[in-house]
Amino acid sequence: MDYDKNNIFAKILRGEIPCKKIYENDYVLSFYDVNPLKKTHLLIIPKGEYIDLDDFHDKASEKEIIEFNKAITHVVKKLKISNQQDGYRVLSNIGKNGGQEVPHLHYHIFGGEKIGKIVF
Ligand code: 5GP
Repeated sequence: MDYDKNNIFAKILRGEIPCKKIYENDYVLSFYDVNPLKKTHLLIIPKGEYIDLDDFHDKASEKEIIEFNKAITHVVKKLKISNQQDGYRVLSNIGKNGGQEVPHLHYHIFGGEKIGKIVF
């Protein structure tokens, strides 16, 4: 499967559509989900063109992989939902059975309230 350069997160990365930005560095962008499922619901995406976690681990550099994962801890601390406070959940939907809608790798971060069962 080829990466679709017209997916919505690619457009956000190009600045073609707006987002409510939380954090950005050379490797990642984090912003609030437009349709929050919990009190705090944000997304973290790599800036590179990767469809999902498998594509990312196959093609990305070690630095990109480290920065993508470190961004989780950075943003949850910034938003004060880390385990120093009340904790949070990280989730990545992958492919058809995973329920992935946007074909650009992303972590969902949920917090700000009790998340409940592991699967919605
Ligand atoms: P997926 O189902 O692919 O794991 O999740 C895609 C997520 O992207 C959904 O939670 C959806 O609400 C969010 N989303 C879709 N379009 C936009 C958008 O234009 N802006 C933002 N901020 N989030 C979006």
